[in-house]
Amino acid sequence: MRVHSDLYIGGQWVAATGTDVIEVVNPSTEEVFASVPAASKDDADAAVAAARGAFESWSQLSIDERTDYVEKIAAAMAERSEEIAALVSAEQGMPIANARRVQAGLPTMVMQSYVGIGREYAAAEPERVGNSMVVEEPIGVCTFITPWNYPLHQIVGKVAPALVAGCTMIVKPSSETPLNAFVLAEIMHEVGVPAGVFNLVTGAGRTVGEALCVHPDVDMISITGSTEAGARIAELGAPTVKRICQELGGKSANVILESADISKAVPAGITGMMLNCGQTCTALTRMIVPRSRQDEVVDLAVEALNSLSMGDPTSDEHFLGPMVSASQKTTVQDYIRTGIDEGARLVAGGPDDPEGYDVGFYVQPTIFADVDNSMVIAQEEIFGPVLCIIPADSDDDAIAIANDSPFGLSGAVWADTDDNAIAAARRLRTGQVMVNGGRFNPLAPFGGYKASGNGRELGRAGLDEFLETKAIQLPA
Ligand code: NAD
Repeated sequence: MRVHSDLYIGGQWVAATGTDVIEVVNPSTEEVFASVPAASKDDADAAVAAARGAFESWSQLSIDERTDYVEKIAAAMAERSEEIAALVSAEQGMPIANARRVQAGLPTMVMQSYVGIGREYAAAEPERVGNSMVVEEPIGVCTFITPWNYPLHQIVGKVAPALVAGCTMIVKPSSETPLNAFVLAEIMHEVGVPAGVFNLVTGAGRTVGEALCVHPDVDMISITGSTEAGARIAELGAPTVKRICQELGGKSANVILESADISKAVPAGITGMMLNCGQTCTALTRMIVPRSRQDEVVDLAVEALNSLSMGDPTSDEHFLGPMVSASQKTTVQDYIRTGIDEGARLVAGGPDDPEGYDVGFYVQPTIFADVDNSMVIAQEEIFGPVLCIIPADSDDDAIAIANDSPFGLSGAVWADTDDNAIAAARRLRTGQVMVNGGRFNPLAPFGGYKASGNGRELGRAGLDEFLETKAIQLPA
């Protein structure tokens, strides 16, 4: 049993003020294998005070000095990457081979990316506009609220640029997956990040999370999470006029145009969508296909799904693991029942527990065909391994269906040529689009349109979120 009884506040491990704890469950074995403090409002206040106290001196360091810390943090993360992969796999359920790449490798890569971005930012001259010099300065104290699906990546996507910018911060990770954040705090301590710059507080969103969002000494809140939580946090921050950055839900479309090679598009779409069992905000959960080719698409999709093995996340062999929690499993299975009730055609999977899985929050990866975009399963984010195949009558119809969503996070287009795919990509109301299998790029701006959020993370755009702009008017 791994017991964390302390929080990381003001550069020290300090006991939480209360005795309540959050138990961390391994979703594959259903065993409680760790616990962390359920912090109180007093703990939140102490963390904000520490971050406020550290801001002046941290923000006055040179950008290069701050970037030096980021470089050391990235190196320490790389050294501990096997431990991080195993830990996230145990708390979150992603099979270890993918966890090594995505849950440990990706956040390390993002931390490392801010070394180059920091060096470039340090070298840039202030812009001149007429008689003004325009300078950028850190926004101040930041609260970071993060989810469980790519837990360390989502923390690092905020922490790394905030450090470069000169901000100080309090991280409140998801209660399902808090353990990786303790490793990050240990690393901050080891590399000597000054006291109060990085603080870690664990606990429930509704209590300690809200305390961190209403606090008048917090200048900015960045949340990655559900649209409901993002909207609530914007309300909490409004009275004190905080900057709010929201990375929220999605229901992204994989638009396969008439001219596309479906033998490439469909298997790639299945593998991408099923990564992390569909618990990915950018998952392409609506596959929009030419109506005349739907049967071929279904055959290819089922074949691709059958090639993905499910099982024990500690084994190198598997692609699919359990859902993160019992409640997530129930939610997903309820949505599958809703799809059947709505009249969608079930072509793989179903709402029952998969055979042979009495223990663990496993669900059957599921594909529906003949889905109408107005159905609940096509409109709401399921956050599980459930694909909706939606037939379209023309390419224009496919794009209209793709845009008929409250969300606008991601998308994909497949066409005969990249130019044709790009032309369609420009018509999608989403923050990113992959064309003809283009890969995720951790240096490109990441964020959503519509109910998927506000603001951008990653790359230089991610740094800009943490900056205030000041115009200094010079005498003639
Ligand atoms: P969630 O909204 O339940 O929780 C996210 C975080 O918000 C947690 O730390 C939680 O404790 C906290 N929280 C919840 N209510 C709060 C409140 N009132 N005040 C303060 N904090 C509060 O989301 P989740 O279930 O952890 O994650 C899944 C969701 O996250 C999905 O909707 C998914 O699409 C979204 N997500 C978005 C992105 C993105 O970058 N756009 C990335 C990953 C996940």
